[in-house]
Amino acid sequence: METKYIFVTGGVVSSLGKGIISSSLACILKARGYRVTIQKFDPYINIDPGTLNPYEHGECYVTVDGHEADLDLGHYERFTNVQTTRANNVTTGRIYQSVIDKERRGDYLGKTVQIIPHITDEIKRNVKLLGNTGQYDFIITEIGGTVGDIESLPFLEAVRQLRWELGQNSLCLHLTYVPYLAAAKELKTKPTQHSVKSLQEVGIQPDVLVLRTEKDIPVNMRRKIAQFCNVAPEAVIQSKDRPTIYEVPVRMHDQHLDEIVLRKMGVEPVGEPNMGPWMQFLHKIEHATEEVNIALVGKYVELQDAYKSINESLFQAATYNDRRLNLCSIHSEKVTPENVDELLRDMDGVIIAPGFGQRGIEGKFTALRWCREHDVPTFGICLGMQCMVIEFARNVLGLPEANSTEMNPTTPDNVIDLMEEQKSISNLGGTMRLGAYDCRLRPESRAAKAYGKLDIKERHRHRFEFNNDYRERFEAAGLQCVGENPATHLVEVVEMPSKRWWIGTQYHPEYSSTVLNPHPLFLDFIKATIAYHDERCGSK
Ligand code: GLN
Repeated sequence: METKYIFVTGGVVSSLGKGIISSSLACILKARGYRVTIQKFDPYINIDPGTLNPYEHGECYVTVDGHEADLDLGHYERFTNVQTTRANNVTTGRIYQSVIDKERRGDYLGKTVQIIPHITDEIKRNVKLLGNTGQYDFIITEIGGTVGDIESLPFLEAVRQLRWELGQNSLCLHLTYVPYLAAAKELKTKPTQHSVKSLQEVGIQPDVLVLRTEKDIPVNMRRKIAQFCNVAPEAVIQSKDRPTIYEVPVRMHDQHLDEIVLRKMGVEPVGEPNMGPWMQFLHKIEHATEEVNIALVGKYVELQDAYKSINESLFQAATYNDRRLNLCSIHSEKVTPENVDELLRDMDGVIIAPGFGQRGIEGKFTALRWCREHDVPTFGICLGMQCMVIEFARNVLGLPEANSTEMNPTTPDNVIDLMEEQKSISNLGGTMRLGAYDCRLRPESRAAKAYGKLDIKERHRHRFEFNNDYRERFEAAGLQCVGENPATHLVEVVEMPSKRWWIGTQYHPEYSSTVLNPHPLFLDFIKATIAYHDERCGSK
């Protein structure tokens, strides 16, 4: 089968969930046995989102090959169980950088370098990179932003050209919003009509419309939209708000999205997608009644998307443990020795979030001390792990000024210090220790038992590390370094065997937890929190 290209665009407003729709379609096509990948083209000028703060763009996701990526790639992996790479996320900045590099090398042979054809050609080349590998039947390309944005125009022009070149091997799915006006008690189709018009103005006729809505859209209204937008009536599909995003693939399949897409691209759908394992997961979500209470201590907790992958990993792990996740976000700047007991005493487990910089750090230490002294299951991730080490150094090893040199460059006890190879780096973008690295676990450790193996590979995003000069003192006092990089001896996992569950990872396990392959550490953590809950409150 020739590689097929599906373009996903969005209109009316941003945040409609193009990533979830793209992921859902990929999920069903994959369940039909096709080889699918999803890529995101972001119209902003940053080379990658690595330098954006979470207020701007939510979580920064990291791929196995060390690319700092848009958080939608996290959805792609969670829904498809297929790993993404640098090639799955391209920005305007990357496109321009590449064109400008070529211009400097003289590759354009004296031509005037212009948006059309040079920028659009570079976009098209990138769109087809993954397709050209021959590894995929379907490439779903999500175009970030909203139709009508100035920045999106070169991408849409590239899509227009590709559709013309690829013919039936391409398709455009447009996602719009149908608002409900409470005062008029009416759903409104006009924004959708306008948004499709904007798309048509740049030469793109959508084949499928997905309408995001809070209420059911009546059939006659869908027919009206089909007629005004030049789309087949059956290809106007609604995406109503659901209690969980993981239900969306099933709702899309109920409306035959996969069959419509396949037929439009000249493929006759055979049989039904194998959604068995996915349905079992949904069944578990629906039937989990007992709650597990987890606190997430971080400085961006008020932002919905800042810890997206952690939230989803916890949700998946709770679901597989037949529990409903009750996630309590605790702002680390607000945790004090006076209120910590009140904030944490009802928690079954605590996660100390990743992060950068001094703000909110003392709250993390306060929470960690309380958790350690009360033996609450505690999971520190990246900066969270570093905080575990610092708190232990201050309050158990008796080094009151222990710190990371990130927070205090002149600390006398630099238990967390800048990695050697980081010392000469001045550029901030793309220069951390990024991507998947090997780690070897100690056989008797809790982490090794959770993974069920000793050799693991996990994704990183940090500049600082555990200072091995202090290793013996930590180990003698009960904090074990149970995971290390076999080549560099960097400490990757610490744990306290004397505690119920006390593990810190320098890496980010949350990036690799998917619906069909939930992460073993999160599963084990939730198991421990349930046991602790039952111990305190009695099991039902
Ligand atoms: N700021 C820490 C470092 O750079 C931790 C980073 C993180 O939590 N992702 O090492």
